[in-house]
Amino acid sequence: MQYVSTRGQAPARSFSDILLAGLAEDGGLFMPESWPHFTASEWREMRALPYAELAARVMAPFTAGSIDHKTLLDLCRSAYANFDHAAIVPLVQIEDGLFVQELFHGPTLAFKDMAMQLLGRLFDHVLTERDERVTIVGATSGDTGSAAIEACKGRERLSVVILHPEGRTSDVQRRQMTTVPDANITNLAVQGTFDDCQDLVKAMFADAPFRNDMRLSAVNSINWARIAAQIPYYVAAALSLGAPDREVSFAVPTGNFGNILAAWVARKMGLPVKRLCVGSNRNDILTRFLNANDMTTHAVVPSLSPSMDIQVSSNFERLLFEFLDRDSDACATLMTDFRKTGKMAVPERVWSSIHELFSGVALDDEATTTEIRRVHNESQYLADPHTIIGVTAGRKFRQPGIPMVAMATAHPAKFPDAMRAATGILPALPPSLADLFDREERFRVVPNSLDVVEDAVRSGVLNNTR
Ligand SMILES: *Cc1c(COP(=O)(O)O)cnc(C)c1O
Repeated sequence: MQYVSTRGQAPARSFSDILLAGLAEDGGLFMPESWPHFTASEWREMRALPYAELAARVMAPFTAGSIDHKTLLDLCRSAYANFDHAAIVPLVQIEDGLFVQELFHGPTLAFKDMAMQLLGRLFDHVLTERDERVTIVGATSGDTGSAAIEACKGRERLSVVILHPEGRTSDVQRRQMTTVPDANITNLAVQGTFDDCQDLVKAMFADAPFRNDMRLSAVNSINWARIAAQIPYYVAAALSLGAPDREVSFAVPTGNFGNILAAWVARKMGLPVKRLCVGSNRNDILTRFLNANDMTTHAVVPSLSPSMDIQVSSNFERLLFEFLDRDSDACATLMTDFRKTGKMAVPERVWSSIHELFSGVALDDEATTTEIRRVHNESQYLADPHTIIGVTAGRKFRQPGIPMVAMATAHPAKFPDAMRAATGILPALPPSLADLFDREERFRVVPNSLDVVEDAVRSGVLNNTR
């Protein structure tokens, strides 16, 4: 499989190449050159597979030419071996026709583990094959950093430096990053906001001598490999509920649009997916777009679901590219204008074809709390502030006879204050993290300064390679 850029100015690349590159050099996102397709009988055969085998089967067309099937299968088995539920992605029914698929049974209790656990192993495999090493730098407001650290800790060919805004992540989220003792992990607490952290990461990538010297790489949600690793759980849910002989719909609490994009790809591959429902918090750019073709950026406001506090959903560019019939010039123009003006002028016919398949709903913090309480009272189910937004979207758009599956993206114990305010219950951390608050923390506080941060990255990498 070869990959092309949504902006059309980068040469086609293999899976291994785009895994390490992340973003295309023309500023676009990589997309597979063509869509793999499974027939109804091929889907049926997958019903019998354990999750790791299903994942390898579904992802194989995307890694073809770079990673042989046996290796992919081994990597998938190892990636999902340390989940704390035998089903890996269990389905729970909470109402008639409404299901929740739990994606939070990995080591950091959020759905990021589903892709990141595999990504860390894929990086390791490709770097060993090429006898190379890289430095992964990333900014996090919470879940991404800990998932990346868990997935990469102790891997010889990877140094990882994660920037988080000092004092602005939850205690659980910070401790999940800062209590990992491995020498290849560096945590920097930046005296600034999440946006400052992101700007510092961008500035490091823009500093070509530094980027080349440190061999910078990224594992953020624009990496295609992350999207690919998120397709299998949609397949697993659909097959359990009767696909390919019955349609299924999905509802997804959405931030950067990576998770729901994977559901759309599954549909493109022949899975009978009826509707895709986007859930937002007050940062509702996507739901404004889906309801009224209004894609205008507003300032980000903090909410109870911090992993969805975004202004621009990066992966939306991939959907746009596809609905523009892969016209990369049109896509590049729309995206550049969007950056400049903060408003995207999506042609009406493109908007209506997206609108035919996608629906959106937004919940403010008050509605989030009310719904957490209601679902807990009516179904004895504890949905975290992200998951509840998916559940509410799913409830709103479900159709008779078509199962609706809402994605549960975080364990409620990650958000104890919100859960207690809504239900009076303080959910316990699972046994693997029960001693999180007794572990020793390790991080360096740095000012919001590119020079200081680059020095800290250098010494972090040195510490790892010595
Ligand atoms: C990252 C994240 C999301 C948003 O997923 P996207 O792929 O960015 O749309 C939702 N919920 C939780 C808990 C997350 O960590």
